[in-house]
Amino acid sequence: MNDLLRVENLNIQYDSPRGKVNAVKNISFTIKKGEIFGLVGESGCGKSTTAFGISRLLRPPAQIAGGSIILDGTELTNLTDQEFDKIRWSKISIILQSAMNNLNPVIKIQDQLIDAILAHKKMAVKDAVNHAKYLLNLVDISEERLNSFPHELSGGMRQRIVIAMALALKPDLIIMDEPTTALDVVVQNGIIKKILTLQKEFGFSILFITHDLPLMLEICDRVGVMYAGELVEVMKREELLQGARHPYTKGLLQSFPPLKGKKTRLKGIPGHPPDLINPPKGCNFHPRCPHMMPHCKLHEPEILGDEKGLVACHLYEGEGDTLEQISATSE
Ligand code: SF4
Ligand code: MG
Repeated sequence: MNDLLRVENLNIQYDSPRGKVNAVKNISFTIKKGEIFGLVGESGCGKSTTAFGISRLLRPPAQIAGGSIILDGTELTNLTDQEFDKIRWSKISIILQSAMNNLNPVIKIQDQLIDAILAHKKMAVKDAVNHAKYLLNLVDISEERLNSFPHELSGGMRQRIVIAMALALKPDLIIMDEPTTALDVVVQNGIIKKILTLQKEFGFSILFITHDLPLMLEICDRVGVMYAGELVEVMKREELLQGARHPYTKGLLQSFPPLKGKKTRLKGIPGHPPDLINPPKGCNFHPRCPHMMPHCKLHEPEILGDEKGLVACHLYEGEGDTLEQISATSE
């Protein structure tokens, strides 16, 4: 099996003054070696929380309440913080939307890169300087910039430096949470192209998180759609370009201008995502779903898989296998 990451029945919860919040509920997905897997959904759907759970960046009171995260055969949820620190950067790195603002403004780029390299790998300072130069070259930034302070660089350059840092120890998996959202479109396009070139060159896998479905459709091999903490659909890019199955994904697709073909009127999805402390009975999406059936108000749909992907919706009941059946046949 060439799965690099296996997330199984992951649950992430936190306590709030009003009660327990199920921010991520029982989600399962895999990412293959060299694959770009996207997670998409409205803000608050749990996609960033999932990324934080995988990369151990959850802050209390949020915590993993169940499930397993296996990276290249290692169960991450069992690792101590020290053990996790050993694989951070060398096996898994994360790039956040705001990362470029997290560079220390009063420390030169060179020193920040070298500190990051030496914190995770033993090498002579001279070699670390050379490695820092090499990393800047990878993201098309001239070596002279090593002597700059972050405030002397544009947002796009700073985000490129963050990408260079994430690549420093050649990780197998890079999690990118809205990595270009804070940048203007032209700079964003340049950075996305760079990410794709580097991914081809080094072959790492990417978990790419964004609310921007058209961007996802351009770059991801497979896309997972989250709604109210749950994974409701997973599809290969080519399948999704032909049209989604889940009514929520269909709604998302209609909220953005089409990539190709005739311009159609954009339709938003009416209503709001549910309160995660008190979600509706049955299918979480039923109050907003144009295809809602009486059954949907009472029974939660199970996620089922077939050759097209996975979908959790009563409209497709009986058309696929359960996750247990799928994992039993793939072992
Ligand atoms: Fe709509 Fe019912 Fe499917 Fe939920 S299960 S998405 S309410 S059709
Ligand atoms: Mg987010």
